[in-house]
Amino acid sequence: MNTIRFKNSNEEIIVPKIFCVGKNYARHAVEMKSDIPGNPVIFMKPSTAIVHDGSKVEVPTITKEMHHETEIFFVIGAGGKNLKKSDALKHIVGVGVGLDLTLRDVQGELKRDGNPWLISKGFDGSAPISEAVPVDGLDLISLSIRLYVDGHLRQHGSYRDTIFKVEEIIEYISQLFTLERGDLIFTGTPEGVASISAGDKLKAELLDGSGMVLTSVGVEIV
Ligand code: MG
Repeated sequence: MNTIRFKNSNEEIIVPKIFCVGKNYARHAVEMKSDIPGNPVIFMKPSTAIVHDGSKVEVPTITKEMHHETEIFFVIGAGGKNLKKSDALKHIVGVGVGLDLTLRDVQGELKRDGNPWLISKGFDGSAPISEAVPVDGLDLISLSIRLYVDGHLRQHGSYRDTIFKVEEIIEYISQLFTLERGDLIFTGTPEGVASISAGDKLKAELLDGSGMVLTSVGVEIV
């Protein structure tokens, strides 16, 4: 279902595109043995990658190593082109937490051969997303995320620690891509990515600065 829903609302918006940023937390770049990038590393998932809370995600048969990457995502409200960093926040209507599920072994082969990451990142079910909450009144810099696998905390990170903030990402990608209402921007994962397998239950949460859970998404790997 290629839509984004809003918490406590009937609003549901079609998602035209999903942009993702790779290596946007320094400690994750280090764990991937990558350099810290000078510009945002951008890739996309098709909107058919989306699944919502309560879904089951099948492990594709081509992999032996599917990883979780827990990420804050933003929802574009008013679209546009050549947006400036100083105006970018006006173009965001919501925020949520998602998973950038990744076939790490497949991605490794693709990287080694200099090929696009698409099949390791864009398969059906590779983008579980929470309902979004409005950004109005939120202190974005104090947002944080947590991922539990079978009740055990596996990842946690703060938006504060991202290398490129969403305003910079919007300025960068909108030079080249027209942003449309409903587009999602995944902002990268903190360190702690690891393998998941059939039977695992994942729960990702977005928290505000006081530690209150704003929204969450849970999926079962099958
Ligand atoms: Mg990612």
